[in-house]
Amino acid sequence: MSFEFDLITLFPEMFDAITQYGITGKANRNGIFNLNTWNPRNFTHDHYRTVDDSSYGGGPGMVMMAQPLDDAIIRARARQNALGIDKPTVVYLTPQGSRLDHEMVTQLSKLPGLVLLCGRYEGIDERLINRQVDVEISIGDYVVSGGELAAMILIDCIVRQIPGTLGDPESANQDSFVEGLLDYPHYTRPEIYKGNHVPEILMSGNHAKIRRWRFQQALGRTWLKRPDLFNLKFAHGMTFEEEKLLEEFKQSCKSRQNQ
Ligand code: SAM
Repeated sequence: MSFEFDLITLFPEMFDAITQYGITGKANRNGIFNLNTWNPRNFTHDHYRTVDDSSYGGGPGMVMMAQPLDDAIIRARARQNALGIDKPTVVYLTPQGSRLDHEMVTQLSKLPGLVLLCGRYEGIDERLINRQVDVEISIGDYVVSGGELAAMILIDCIVRQIPGTLGDPESANQDSFVEGLLDYPHYTRPEIYKGNHVPEILMSGNHAKIRRWRFQQALGRTWLKRPDLFNLKFAHGMTFEEEKLLEEFKQSCKSRQNQ
């Protein structure tokens, strides 16, 4: 069964970016996920198809009105119900939501589908959020102009987790964050690029040594680049082997600095 996305958006065409290109495009063509859009403008009742109005209390910018969004969400929920999804989860993409991370993506990818609500302008009438939204998700502590980019990020990372999307299912398991660490460095041809060699160990054919080196690199670069992740991963301490690998990594950084 495919993962069912229903998007509430004023800009349905933007989603061509994920349904037509790259890995998500292929997954869409292979039926791994379906994406349906609902434009709130098609649920308005006035001549001008109005979806926004000024903010009560004053202030800059417009606010998305509740009714067109409400009716669009009702239709999206009904479509998911018809496909056997009893209680579809409605997500509002908003800077005020919980910050998206790998754990959240893993949980969401186990659902049969999602209704994603994309805001525009200053945001959405709060009464609509209270009535219809189950979860609020943010892509980070900054503000973009609309929920579409945020929804596309969410869709892309969910789809990557669905079996069948990636050619080699192991790829997703080796990505950054899966084991609480950043990914190890990657190299490809040529063997020497502008005087820089591929690390010798990767050319050795010794798979046990390559695995050890890659784990050491993942450990070391997480320690170096993301101390927050590192501390979380090893909150309960490190094994003797992990400590040894990290110490070696630190020494190699020092000797590189002294060169
Ligand atoms: N006034 C709102 C605030 O400060 O919370 C921001 C509104 S923003 C210009 C318009 C829409 O973009 C939002 O309704 C939301 O759907 C989307 N958006 C903006 N930043 C986002 C973020 N970091 N994560 C998810 N969605 C975001």
